[in-house]
Amino acid sequence: MKQTLRQNDLEAYLDEALPAEEMAEIERRIRLDPSLLQQLAAINARRDSGVHTLSEIWRRRRASCPDRRDWSAYLLGTLDEAARQYMELHLREVGCRFCRANLHDLQVQSEEGEAAGETRRRRYFETSVGRLRRR
Ligand SMILES: [Zn+2]
Repeated sequence: MKQTLRQNDLEAYLDEALPAEEMAEIERRIRLDPSLLQQLAAINARRDSGVHTLSEIWRRRRASCPDRRDWSAYLLGTLDEAARQYMELHLREVGCRFCRANLHDLQVQSEEGEAAGETRRRRYFETSVGRLRRR
């Protein structure tokens, strides 16, 4: 393990791109050294905004890319205004191809979803009933 943590060590930590022992070591050092936490928060602030605690950083470490659940919430229109704006900015201004693909995929899925979900539910019900009858 290196003596001093550099910016890219912390970046890698946020991306969970390190071996488990190094992740644990960095986490231990962050807990001991408030200046590291500040550094980490600064990195994260660039990726998103308003982060103060280690657990928040953890939760929001992928804040630069909304995850699939966020995008389904976006499609359902259940997000608050700030989140919705952030995601639209991410899509339009940042032009993230990964998220665009994700969103497109979810749109297709929700169009097909109704029918498929119905079939799955019916199948599950039938096998459950079948199992009960065999007993
Ligand atoms: Zn993205």
